[in-house]
Amino acid sequence: MSTPDCLFCRIVAGEIPATVVRETPTTLAFRDIDPKAPVHVLVVTKEHYADVATLGQGDPALAGELLATAAAVAGDEGLLGDGFRLMFNTGGYGGQEVFHVHAHLLGGAPLGPMLA
Ligand code: 5GP
Ligand code: ZN
Repeated sequence: MSTPDCLFCRIVAGEIPATVVRETPTTLAFRDIDPKAPVHVLVVTKEHYADVATLGQGDPALAGELLATAAAVAGDEGLLGDGFRLMFNTGGYGGQEVFHVHAHLLGGAPLGPMLA
C-alpha cells in the first residue's frame, strides 16, 4: 500500500523524479540524490514498510527480493570484484531519515571503517 506523504512512495509512484537503475515488479533501485561514495544507490520495496525490521518480520520473501535487486545492481555497477557496503539505517540511533525501507548500496572506492 502506498503512503501519500512518504518521499520514497512518491518516487515509486513516479511523482518525484529519480535516476532509476533497476526495477523489478516489487523493488526499485535509484541513485541517492546526495551520494556519499562514487556509487550510491538506494534499493526500496515498492510496498511501503517503515524500516528493515518491519519488512524482515512482515514479509521475509520480499526482503530477499530487495537483497537480490541490490546484488544485481552491485553487479551492474561493477562492484562485485572490489566489494561494496550494503546497509539499512534504522530508527533514531541508526540515523534513519526517510521512513520507507531502503538499502544503501555504496561502492566504487575504499569506504573506510563503518562508523568513521
Ligand atoms: P537514511 O538516512 O534515511 O538512511 O537515508 C535517506 C537517503 O535518502 C539519504 O542518503 C538522502 O541523500 C536520500 N534522499 C533524500 N531525499 C531524496 C530524494 O528526493 N531523492 C533521492 N534520490 N534520494 C534522496
Ligand atoms: Zn513509503
